Amino acid sequence: MKLTLIAALLTTVAALTAAPALPIHVMLLDGEQAGAYHAWQETTPYLKRMLEDAGIFQVDVVTVPPRGGDFSAFHPDWSKYQVVVGNYDAPDDRWPDNLKAAFAEYIRNGGGFVSVHAADNAFANWKEYNLMIGVGGWRGRSEKSGPHFYYQNGKLVSDTAPGMAGSHGARNPFQVVNQVTDHPITKGLPKEWMHVGDELYANLRGPGENMTILSSAFSDPANRGTGHDEPILIVISYGKGRIFHTTMGHDLAALNCVGFMTTYQRGTEWAATGKVTQKVPTDFPTSEKFGMRKEYDPPAGWSSPGGRPRPQSK
Ligand code: ZN
Repeated sequence: MKLTLIAALLTTVAALTAAPALPIHVMLLDGEQAGAYHAWQETTPYLKRMLEDAGIFQVDVVTVPPRGGDFSAFHPDWSKYQVVVGNYDAPDDRWPDNLKAAFAEYIRNGGGFVSVHAADNAFANWKEYNLMIGVGGWRGRSEKSGPHFYYQNGKLVSDTAPGMAGSHGARNPFQVVNQVTDHPITKGLPKEWMHVGDELYANLRGPGENMTILSSAFSDPANRGTGHDEPILIVISYGKGRIFHTTMGHDLAALNCVGFMTTYQRGTEWAATGKVTQKVPTDFPTSEKFGMRKEYDPPAGWSSPGGRPRPQSK
């Protein structure tokens, strides 16, 4: 009898201390972006495959109804997932209030969220969403949305000067600097590493509460930049939820960067579990050289989708 009790107790202790059950269940949310230049139909399969290739995730794509679509039957089962990846950008009025409330409650209660590139353009006036992403751009954001956060001489600045939020220059390769090197996502990565040609988001604004900017990049005035070290990788906590925010990833060319995919895989694991178990790959970029992978090359004949270029705020 006694032995049985001890055995039962030991089993319970083992279950409590064991690593979280794999795979990590991920909802990849898509269905809309502001224009053809953000081709979510072509980026979603790459974002899905990157997680699957890490070997610890199981990914379901959930596609939100389009503008004018029927939202009455759209009730994603958030509880089935440890983390939601946002490859989605829509205006404030797209989601009914009950959908917004259900999503905010899911994150507040400990769900994870990953904001990829233009997901930080979405929902400019949805207070809870902006608390989750920390900072965002476009869709009318301005100094009323919160300060412009950046690093200057190694110190974090929150700049309240008036101005519209969201800008970028031409898609040149740029160097990312990990400002925080002991966070699970950045631990073990080179302090400086090159990213392939991508939009370097600048002038993002928001509440910035419970936010840590892990990595930054210099926004070069010679390429319509701000002259500041702008946030690139960000972590935020919202209630019990963890959020990983990467501003990289404009198109298929930008996604094919070992630095993007490694931080995206690690950031998604961290948002889901609070830990990172993935090793740094041997082909991770260096301070001078970016790294791409053949299996993530865009399809033959691909070119970056056109459409109206982003309006520049400065
Ligand atoms: Zn973009």
